[in-house]
Amino acid sequence: MSKRAIIMYGPPGAGKGTQAELLSRKMNVTHFDTGRYIESLVHSKEAGTDPVLKQEQINFDEGKLCTPSWVLNIIEEATRKIALTGQGVVFSGSPRTMYEAFGEPEEGSDAEKRPEGGLIKVLEEIYGKDNIIVFTISIDEASSIKRNSTRMICSVCGLPIMSISDANICGFCGGPAKKRTLDNPEVIKVRLEEYKKRTYPIIKQLKQEKYRIEEIDGTPAPYKVFEQILSSLSPKIHS
Ligand SMILES: [Zn+2]
Repeated sequence: MSKRAIIMYGPPGAGKGTQAELLSRKMNVTHFDTGRYIESLVHSKEAGTDPVLKQEQINFDEGKLCTPSWVLNIIEEATRKIALTGQGVVFSGSPRTMYEAFGEPEEGSDAEKRPEGGLIKVLEEIYGKDNIIVFTISIDEASSIKRNSTRMICSVCGLPIMSISDANICGFCGGPAKKRTLDNPEVIKVRLEEYKKRTYPIIKQLKQEKYRIEEIDGTPAPYKVFEQILSSLSPKIHS
């Protein structure tokens, strides 16, 4: 099977990170969690002294998107490194803007169009257009807010703790649960608006350019959602 580049889209709480993680365990693909990668950069020691990282840290902690050109550069670099390992890649949460996806400047921005395009072109060059698959995982807004405001992670290892757990400890390392800093209701609303405003135009553009897009219902339990994803990835049998 050819190596694939998979993109997971969905509002906060749709479970795109979980689905990407499940895929990376089942298939020969590396899960690139853009949010976590950016978080590790902006909360690194260097952010204390580097003015660029410092500004990105402020954006990040307020739930705003980091500067698109900065994000595109770090994602492109990381993507090329993954490709060198011979693996496919699954993205959760990127490309997040028209700029990251196609190199198109944001509306109202005075930035120039990036001549070499965005991440989509990079993926096409590495994996081929036919091997790029975009999943849009949908849940309604009320569920998005509810899921995010009840979501817990382990304060030690960072793994998610399902709300059905009554002990509020991590099943992996036993560490105590905590809320993610991104998950207070005000920040979730900002993230939902950002998602609509910035991601919908990318999906529209991908449709126009005839990329393969699979729409998935994110309402059921994650393992059920995963079954839908696997079945749309398995080769269709023509009889
Ligand atoms: Zn843990």
